[in-house]
Amino acid sequence: MDGNVRVRIAPSPTGALHMGTARTALFNWLFARKTGGTFVVRIEDTDLARSTEESTEGILQGLRWLGLDWDEGPGAGGPYGPYFQSQRMEYYKEFAAKLEENGRAYRCYCTPEEVDERRKAMLAAGQVSKYDRKCLHLTDAQRRQYEAEGRPYVLRFYAKDEGETVVHDLIRGEVRFANHVLDDFVLVRSDGLPTYNFAVVVDDHLMKITHVIRGEDHISNTPRQIQVYEALGWDVPIFVHLPMILGPDRSKLSKRHGAKFIMEFADEGYLPEAVVNYLALLGWSYDDSQEIFEVPDELIEKFSLERISKNPAIFDTQKLEWMNGVYIRKLDYRELAARALPLMQKAGLLPKELDPKLKERYEAVVKEVQQRVRKLNELVDATRYFFTDEITWDEKAVQKHLHREYVPELLAALLEEFASLQPFNAGTIEPVFNRLAEKMGLKRGDLMQPVRVAVTGGPVSPGIFETLELLGRAKTCERLRTVLERLRRGEM
Ligand code: GLU
Repeated sequence: MDGNVRVRIAPSPTGALHMGTARTALFNWLFARKTGGTFVVRIEDTDLARSTEESTEGILQGLRWLGLDWDEGPGAGGPYGPYFQSQRMEYYKEFAAKLEENGRAYRCYCTPEEVDERRKAMLAAGQVSKYDRKCLHLTDAQRRQYEAEGRPYVLRFYAKDEGETVVHDLIRGEVRFANHVLDDFVLVRSDGLPTYNFAVVVDDHLMKITHVIRGEDHISNTPRQIQVYEALGWDVPIFVHLPMILGPDRSKLSKRHGAKFIMEFADEGYLPEAVVNYLALLGWSYDDSQEIFEVPDELIEKFSLERISKNPAIFDTQKLEWMNGVYIRKLDYRELAARALPLMQKAGLLPKELDPKLKERYEAVVKEVQQRVRKLNELVDATRYFFTDEITWDEKAVQKHLHREYVPELLAALLEEFASLQPFNAGTIEPVFNRLAEKMGLKRGDLMQPVRVAVTGGPVSPGIFETLELLGRAKTCERLRTVLERLRRGEM
C-alpha cells in the first residue's frame, strides 16, 4: 500500500480550524508522509448558507501554521479536482441519477413537516423513528401527478433494512450496525445540493482515497456510506476512527476546558511544533513514556495507525503549556527572539525595524528570560520593562520591598555609585552591591529585591546585575530616581 496511500481531510468551512480537525489533519498528514502517500484537502462547502470563504482561508492558514502541507487541494491543484464540493455538482448529479436508475434511490415528495410528524408518531408507538417509505410505494400515477405539479422532492437512498452493515475499523475492529435502524437518508436535498453522506462517498471514491481517517463522531455515518459504496459497486476504503478529545472532566471538549482555535494558540504565543507534538499525543502514543518528539521528522518516523488508541483523549492545557515551555527552551535564543518579535511589535515594545544594536540587546534580554517562560506572550510580559518606560509598579511588591526604611538611602547611594561606574555591566555592578551591603550592615538579598521592584515594577526578573546591565545606565538611574522621589514625597 505504501506509496499509493491517499488520505484527506474534508473540513466544512463554517468556522475556524479547531483542535479536533487539526488533530485529524495531523494524523492523516503523518500517515501520508510516513508512507510516501498523498495528503488531500477537500473543502466540504455544500452548506451554502454557513460556508464562508473567510473560514476556508482561516482553516488553510491554520494548517499552514502547523506545517501540514497538502499535495492536492486548494491552491495546490491536483488530478482529481476541483477540491471544493460546491464545484463538483456534476458528479453528484451523475451518481444520484445512477442510483435512481438502479433502484437504490427514490424521490420523496413529503414535506419536512409531514416526515417529522410521522416520525414522532412512530416514536410514540415505540417504533424506531425513521422515514416510513411512503414515497417508495407511490404508484406511477401518483408520481406523475406530483412531477406535473412541480412538487419539490428530495432524493432518498433506498437503504437495506435486513441484516447488518459491518464497519471494519482499523482501530476498533468490526463495528456492527443493524440495518433496520438505518434510515432511507436523504442523498440530495430539494434545492439540488447533495448531503454530506452522499457527497463524501462520491468524492472519496473519485479522489481514490485509500484510508478515511476521521473523528469517531462520524462512526454512525460510516455504515450509511458503506451502503452507498456498495450500491454504486465501489470498493470501500479502510476506515480509521480517531478517539474523541474530551475535557479533563470527560465531557465534550469546550472553551471552558481551555480548548482554542488553532490560530488562537498562535496568537497566545504557542509554538507550532509544540502544538503539533501535543496534538499527536491526543489519541496516539509511540510507547507509553516518550512525550517529546522532533517535529516533524521523528513523529513521521514513529507514527503508525496501529498505535492509535480506542480510548478518548483528554485535553490538558497545563500539559500543553509545559510542552510549549520545553520547546521554547529547546530553541536557540536568537531564534526564540525572532519568533517572539511579531508579538513584541504588536505590543508596541519594539519598532518595525530593529537596528543591529537594539536587535542584539533584545536577543540578550530574551536569553535571560528563556528558561522561565512557557509561551511567547509570557515572554512579552517578562521583558516589557526593558523596552518601555511606562512602568506600573505592583502594589504588593511595593508594600513588601520598597517600604523598608533603608530603601531611600540605598537608592540614593546606588544613584551616586552608578553615575560614575565604568563600564556599566554585571561584572562591575555586583561589587557595588557587595560594598553597599557591608556598609549598610545588610544582606545582599535585602538590597536586590527593592532594586528589582524599583526598576522592573515587580518581584520577578532575571538576575538583578544582568537586568541592570541590559537596562543600561540611563534607564536604571532614571527609574531609581523616580522611585526615590516618589518615596520621599510619600507618593508610593
Ligand atoms: N465535513 C466533515 C467534517 O468536517 C468531514 C468528515 C469526514 O472526514 O468524512 O466533519
